[in-house]
Amino acid sequence: MSGKGEASPDGKLFLESVLSSVKRAFEIGGMSMDFYELLKVPKRIVTVSVPIKDRKGNIVIYTGFRVQHSDVLGPYKGGIRYHPKVNLDEVTALAMLMTYKCAALSLPFGGAKGGVACDPKTLTVEELERITRRYTHMISNVIGPFVDIPAPDVYTDARVMAWIMDTYSQLMGRQVPEVVTGKPVYLGGSEGREEATGFGAAVVTREACRLLGIPVKGARVAIQGFGNVGSYAALHLASQGAKIVAVSDSKGAIYSKDGLYIERLMSHKKSTGTVLGFPGATQISEHELLQLDVDILIPAAIEGVITKEVAERVKAKIITEGANGPTTSEGSLVLQERGVFVIPDILASAGGVTGSYFEWVQNLQREHWPREVVLNKIEEKMVKSFNDMTNEMKKLEVGPRDALMVLSVSRISTAIQSLGIWP
Ligand code: GLU
Repeated sequence: MSGKGEASPDGKLFLESVLSSVKRAFEIGGMSMDFYELLKVPKRIVTVSVPIKDRKGNIVIYTGFRVQHSDVLGPYKGGIRYHPKVNLDEVTALAMLMTYKCAALSLPFGGAKGGVACDPKTLTVEELERITRRYTHMISNVIGPFVDIPAPDVYTDARVMAWIMDTYSQLMGRQVPEVVTGKPVYLGGSEGREEATGFGAAVVTREACRLLGIPVKGARVAIQGFGNVGSYAALHLASQGAKIVAVSDSKGAIYSKDGLYIERLMSHKKSTGTVLGFPGATQISEHELLQLDVDILIPAAIEGVITKEVAERVKAKIITEGANGPTTSEGSLVLQERGVFVIPDILASAGGVTGSYFEWVQNLQREHWPREVVLNKIEEKMVKSFNDMTNEMKKLEVGPRDALMVLSVSRISTAIQSLGIWP
């Protein structure tokens, strides 16, 4: 058995959905469709077959990808995902989202994404390390601190980033911490990076609440996905007085009318591996969670969760897209018609890459900043981008996703225009 990364209908749909929102932005913004054609395909796709010896000594082959979409605004940047369903269309769509996300936040980066089709939950630590090191070895000629800088994504973490850094550094014959972000703090990682994505999601949620006149204190929140993004978004919103009434993970969902105690829930999840069985909470289905009568819904897991059918039944007034691509294009249209304020993924999930940017800057300068400094800088960038988005909404009379995508795409188009095509 091995991870094959085979084409999937879901991956294809996801890619189509990303392309359709980019195309819409080009049309609304009146930018050259030649540039759309250029951005419709990644600049480079690397597919590797990653062989490792498993715990029994057998050779197993995993398929890995690194898709480099655009480096018009800076070195490629984006995470690496370990998931059984990883496939080329999905990774391509995610690489594209990184390009638009970095441009939306005015970060000096392009967009890339990587992935290995494997199930980390069934692998030993040694197997994970072997996969990571061999995969890094196989993409080492296309990454680098000024070329392409990987980071964590679904089911990868600081430990995986440490292996990537070490493998790359050994190949180069010197320490290169700036080749990867999201490292452990004691190995050149940044304070605040681990919580950065969830923190950023909480910041823009607060801004949306302010815009819509919903007090954060007492606001009812449901979070789908209680991994790195969902748990820290919950923690930061709860610290502002919001009531996190429901959360889910891959095993199921839980609900508590009075709000869940997030710190305790985080340690419950750490010790038992799931949010299920949390004292005082009742079990519900994920379907119920998405349709709960809440003020704020945060999809913080994977793509394609808010379909047309779900969108028709959502009761939340604000959706914060903490995941990449959680809403399908059909779902997105329904939400817009129903007047739900959706903070698009390229902003709501951008706290992570913004934290990564500051980690990279610290590494290059051999500096180490305190957590408060890093979080304040992330907050400033997220709020600026939120305000840019709302101004553009008024100017163009469009919804938040279209507005921010227009801004992002126009920044990239301007750069392509000035650079031209060479040779
Ligand atoms: N994987 C995260 C994302 O999707 C972080 C990427 C990064 O830090 O480069 O935005």
